[in-house]
Amino acid sequence: MQPSMAPGQRLVPHRLSDLLRLQHSPLTPSSRLRRQRRMCNIPTTCCLSTSVGSSSKSSTNSRVVDTLIIGGGPIGLSTAFHLASRYRNNDGSNITIVERDPTYGRSSATLSAGGIRQQFSLKENVAMSLYGRDFLRQAHNLLRVDDNDNDDDDEVDVQFQEHGYLFLSSSMAGKDQLLANNQVQRSVGCTDIHLLEPIELQHKFPWLNTSDILLGSFGTRGEGWFDPWALILGLKRKCQSMGVKFVKGYPVASERDKQSKRVVSVDVLEEKESVVRYHVNHVVNTSGAYCNDVMQILAGGGNRLLHPIPVEPRKRCIFFIHCNTQQQEYVVPQVAPLTICPITGVYFRSEGLIRGVPTGNFLCGVSPSRDVDRAIDDMGELEYVDHELWDDIIWPALAHRVPAFGEVKVKSSWAGLYEYNTIDQNAIIGFHPEMDNVVLANGFSGHGLQQSPAAGRAVAELLSCDGQFETLDLRVFSFDRLIEKRPLFEAGIV
Ligand SMILES: Cc1cc2nc3c(=O)[nH]c(=O)nc-3n(C[C@H](O)[C@H](O)[C@H](O)COP(=O)(O)OP(=O)(O)OC[C@H]3O[C@@H](n4cnc5c(N)ncnc54)[C@H](O)[C@@H]3O)c2cc1C
Repeated sequence: MQPSMAPGQRLVPHRLSDLLRLQHSPLTPSSRLRRQRRMCNIPTTCCLSTSVGSSSKSSTNSRVVDTLIIGGGPIGLSTAFHLASRYRNNDGSNITIVERDPTYGRSSATLSAGGIRQQFSLKENVAMSLYGRDFLRQAHNLLRVDDNDNDDDDEVDVQFQEHGYLFLSSSMAGKDQLLANNQVQRSVGCTDIHLLEPIELQHKFPWLNTSDILLGSFGTRGEGWFDPWALILGLKRKCQSMGVKFVKGYPVASERDKQSKRVVSVDVLEEKESVVRYHVNHVVNTSGAYCNDVMQILAGGGNRLLHPIPVEPRKRCIFFIHCNTQQQEYVVPQVAPLTICPITGVYFRSEGLIRGVPTGNFLCGVSPSRDVDRAIDDMGELEYVDHELWDDIIWPALAHRVPAFGEVKVKSSWAGLYEYNTIDQNAIIGFHPEMDNVVLANGFSGHGLQQSPAAGRAVAELLSCDGQFETLDLRVFSFDRLIEKRPLFEAGIV
């Protein structure tokens, strides 16, 4: 079924077959010409030049790249993958990814809950996650690297476990929201999300306390969780095989052409303290929670941005718990979908590979309340998990919702960063208003991992289709809405 849309909007179903086709189709002559035109104002050979930007280094190696992607997390990698897939012979050699920490020790993705769902209220969010679902299901094909040494162990397995998401409502307003969301989800093609009355919930999930529940919304397929590491490594290996260059480092300076509003070069501090100047055609900012620091560098030494990205790093904690599976009195969940409790927003799900035997292991967490939620000042804060969240909010909510969770032990916990969009907690995808060749994919506020396939594809389209989206129309996520003070409302923020 086609989604209902405002006139002029285009929302084309996610098409992986197109991607597979694109991987083998060259650029059309006209798009090649456009690309050449855009490339014409940068030098074509590498040379040793003297730094004139605000970099403190006096001598700088220089390179020429078409697209410089800053931040090699899932969104940066997906951008490179989708962009390279559009070029003749999938040649990504004109793309460079700059990543400051290739161990991904503190990237949001590796510290995330790895969840994917289509249960959003905005049709664009639903559609993005539908593409994410299909991408994950096809990851072993899409990310396969054809080399002679490849054996079965090299197969990409993102461990997509389709055990669903379960949203619960305990108020009339919450129930109405689930009903309205369901209509949107169905209009965009989600046929596996079902509304369940309390009695049906009780039957399906005998471990759940439904005494105060009015309605549940459960995705039977297509939702669940996967291994973020496996996705990152699979994308990275695939990108490398397509010729994408990877650099360990971070930008320290840039040069802008004031007339054309374009960033013409970016100085990157690489290993061994050497600065390399990249003459660029395009820059993509996929640096996650610290995307504003990157924008500051791109603005050029000392220049203040009129439009900083309204995204800040906010701490989110996850607790890994074990539940006593030998209880007589209460049923212990064998497989718990990612369940979101009403009122508190506390979530939990099974953890570990599910092979028919209950592991008793679960992940859980909650976003702090608005009055205490704030940007963190330095990454060091990630060393400390907010245990009062467990004591005061999570455990009481869990024990109420699943009586068997009265007997649990916290086995470990960690903290990561949401790249939190302070205006409307939705993605910002599109060109920066002050820089004509800088594309942003930021501010996903806790749902960026599952949307990374669609976000990367969207950026690749903007870069290669003259600033237009080709498959999903994601103009609602452009920076314009922030300038025009038209925040998007998404009811499904967790
Ligand atoms: C606790 C928690 C749970 C979450 N759960 C989910 C979930 O269930 N589902 C979901 O979809 N999302 C979830 N998220 C959100 C998700 O992790 C992010 O939305 C997603 O990782 C964003 O991808 P990214 O590539 O933009 O950012 P990241 O994953 O953070 O990657 C950005 C990369 O940029 C690099 N970088 C930063 N600054 C620079 C610089 N100056 N120079 C060079 N490199 C730089 C970083 O080192 C990093 O590797 C969760 C997040 C947290 C913290």
